[in-house]
Amino acid sequence: MALIVQKYGGSSVADAASVQRVAARIVATKQAGHDVCVVVSAMGDTTDELLDLAQQVTADPPSREMDILLTAGERISMSLLAMAIDGLGVEARSFTGQQAGVITDAAYGQARIIDVSPSRITATLADGQVAIVAGFQGVNTEANDVTTLGRGGSDTTAVALAAALGADVCEIYSDVDGVFTADPRIVPSARRLGQIGYDVMLEMAASGAKVLMPRCVEYARRFGVPVHVRSSFSDLDGTLVTKEDPMEEPIIAGVAHDRSQAKITLVDVPDVPGKAARIFKVVADAGVNVDMIVQNVSASGTGRTDVSFTLPAADGDAATAALAAVRAEIGYARLAYDDTIGKLSLVGAGMKSNPGVSARLFHALSDAGINIEMISTSEIRLSVVTGAGDLDAAVRAVHTAFDLDSDQDEAVVYGGTGR
Ligand code: ADP
Ligand code: ASP
Ligand code: MG
Repeated sequence: MALIVQKYGGSSVADAASVQRVAARIVATKQAGHDVCVVVSAMGDTTDELLDLAQQVTADPPSREMDILLTAGERISMSLLAMAIDGLGVEARSFTGQQAGVITDAAYGQARIIDVSPSRITATLADGQVAIVAGFQGVNTEANDVTTLGRGGSDTTAVALAAALGADVCEIYSDVDGVFTADPRIVPSARRLGQIGYDVMLEMAASGAKVLMPRCVEYARRFGVPVHVRSSFSDLDGTLVTKEDPMEEPIIAGVAHDRSQAKITLVDVPDVPGKAARIFKVVADAGVNVDMIVQNVSASGTGRTDVSFTLPAADGDAATAALAAVRAEIGYARLAYDDTIGKLSLVGAGMKSNPGVSARLFHALSDAGINIEMISTSEIRLSVVTGAGDLDAAVRAVHTAFDLDSDQDEAVVYGGTGR
């Protein structure tokens, strides 16, 4: 008998029939003799719909109210799931994040879990019942307010609960059969990875592979929680995310993409010490996280240079306004903003010891006629920015160039709208 945490994403509980289908899977696990704690996301695209609704009411909704609104999505799915399990003759109790003891800091919309005290969950499991927990939410005990953990946050709820409960495994059920060498929505010939190490998975997730939220992978690595990514629509093997096994680690694990970034270029910045420090202080003070940065050598004799960087498009207004306010002080000529960009990242543990990876990637993009706007690297990642319209073709070209295409059946996407 094991203690299993199972997380079901929104696409797995999109409607009443899906809730019943998931309930049957949970009951089967329970009847196999295991203790089961379930974390569930809001049904289908509920969270996006609530966000849209708030925008229709006011352009700038207060973040405290936004979090109260968004936590409603998971309350609906958790109670319906408990009812459906009850309907199958197995006792189940649902709990909000607060009731489950998920304590966070006060950062509305992107709160971090600082503690988990799941005494009610432990008691529920001890009573032989299934515990259902609303994902994506917690409570800040200082303000006594509910908080949300950022998009995709139910993954993190599940891993945090698995760590706190000492679960044997955390199973993340989604609408694909595991972690693939690329998003199966873009690359139907993507290959499923049987196993992937925490570090490489974290890099994939942070580069846009939204099958797992980056913070959930960080959490799993810190507490050594084995994460099993699977489909709730099939019984296939899935992907085990666990401590790296150097013998199993491929040179290239996969290609991730990200459409959520934008690019700012400051044109004609005086090329003197201190300008970059000032620019990025202003951006940081606006609460914006910068990703890639490129500064050209100044054209001979002009003493001026261009500075470009990428940032989440959602922070575009904040960063542009902050930089516009210091234009005279910094002395740049013009600010160009572009949110029609895409970022492609090639990720793999063996990259650092294999020369020629970048040349092969650039060659693949040039063969496909795709222009590269920016480049950045880490030990196990190589990222390039392209035009948004070129991104899908770029992902496919690079996937093929690194021999990642599978000759098996196509990767299946069972549900979800991809939103
Ligand atoms: P859930 O609603 O279950 O949380 P998500 O939509 O958050 O599901 O994540 C699953 C989706 O992640 C898949 O439908 C797929 O389009 C996308 N995805 C992106 N990159 C990958 C990858 N490398 N492997 C598998 N899925 C990926
Ligand atoms: N419902 C939340 C979201 O859509 C959390 C999650 O699905 O993990 O981001
Ligand atoms: Mg998700």
